[in-house]
Amino acid sequence: MAAVTYELIKTCKQSGARLGRLHTPHGVIETPIFMPVGTLATVKTMSPEELKQMEAQIILSNTYHLWLRPGHDIVKEAGGLHRFMNWDKPILTDSGGFQVFSLSDLRKIEEEGVHFRNHLSGEKLFLSPEGAMDIQNALGSDIMMAFDECPPYPAEYDYMKSSVERTSRWAERCLKAHKRPSDQALFGIIQGGEFEELRAQSAKDLISLDFPGYAIGGLSVGEPKHVMNEVLEFTTPLMPTNKPRYLMGVGSPDSLIDGAIRGVDMFDCVLPTRIARNGTCMTSSGRLVVRNAKYARDFRPLDENCECHVCQNYTRAYIRHLIKCDETFGFRLTTYHNLHFLLNLMKKVRQAIMDDRLLDFREEFFEAYGFNKPNAKNF
Ligand SMILES: [Zn+2]
Repeated sequence: MAAVTYELIKTCKQSGARLGRLHTPHGVIETPIFMPVGTLATVKTMSPEELKQMEAQIILSNTYHLWLRPGHDIVKEAGGLHRFMNWDKPILTDSGGFQVFSLSDLRKIEEEGVHFRNHLSGEKLFLSPEGAMDIQNALGSDIMMAFDECPPYPAEYDYMKSSVERTSRWAERCLKAHKRPSDQALFGIIQGGEFEELRAQSAKDLISLDFPGYAIGGLSVGEPKHVMNEVLEFTTPLMPTNKPRYLMGVGSPDSLIDGAIRGVDMFDCVLPTRIARNGTCMTSSGRLVVRNAKYARDFRPLDENCECHVCQNYTRAYIRHLIKCDETFGFRLTTYHNLHFLLNLMKKVRQAIMDDRLLDFREEFFEAYGFNKPNAKNF
């Protein structure tokens, strides 16, 4: 039996969205779900206790970063990532591929793997499918990701085709190198950019390898939103219905809803935590930049409809003051609220699927958030 299994509870009659449960070695996850990102074995400024309080069910950590610092050998010696960071719920680790391709400009892709330079020290490094498995096996995450090539957007068809083929060969090597299939599930990543034929080829190759779950990679890399939705529309129907579907790197509220409508179960993104440290908040009536001068004497909560402990206890004026003064506590408050907002949004999405009204919910949410306005911001 695979380490992680998916249980489909129901599909929304209005949209086809899926309500499900993911059974993992560290507990059950209700899907669709948003996964907060804890790059360096910490969701920046949040304690694991706070993440539990806001009902985070699973977090994501980055293999590349933990490999460089503190080193996967140290995490392994600590008893694995869960023990190292005191988080006893599920963890997903990425493969390091995306960081190798996005953080380093001096890289050389070979069949064997990728040569590149450490973005911190400039030191020459090499990462292969086998290396990415070795590191993730040491970290001990519940869900590991296959090492894939992440081509930039836009990429030419011919390049994308050879990249998809290499990603399939690497996926097979990842499966062979994975040493803990009984307690860690390895997901394959479907690539192919915006090309329907290549997405189909990638899906077919990976499904033949029988992974316990599949991700859709290569989206949210600069393409317009309608392209992402189109790609999802022709990709998710190719994916098995009895396995989880994970859309990588997506976390704006509109894209979470639109992804769920197209049958996606899992999402992750640094967006809510990154913009929080800039003083930008997601609220039920749209984007709120709390550092703006107009909030200096605004003694209302960040979001008057939010039940999080930040909105129950702190004002826009106070949070603005902290952030203007670079006080860490201010970043903690905006981070907590933004993560709570997205986790709560997914809770509402799950309820709307249960009630067969996700399209109606989308309309109501988009209207209130301002996504229906011309020139609406993305988040
Ligand atoms: Zn709040």
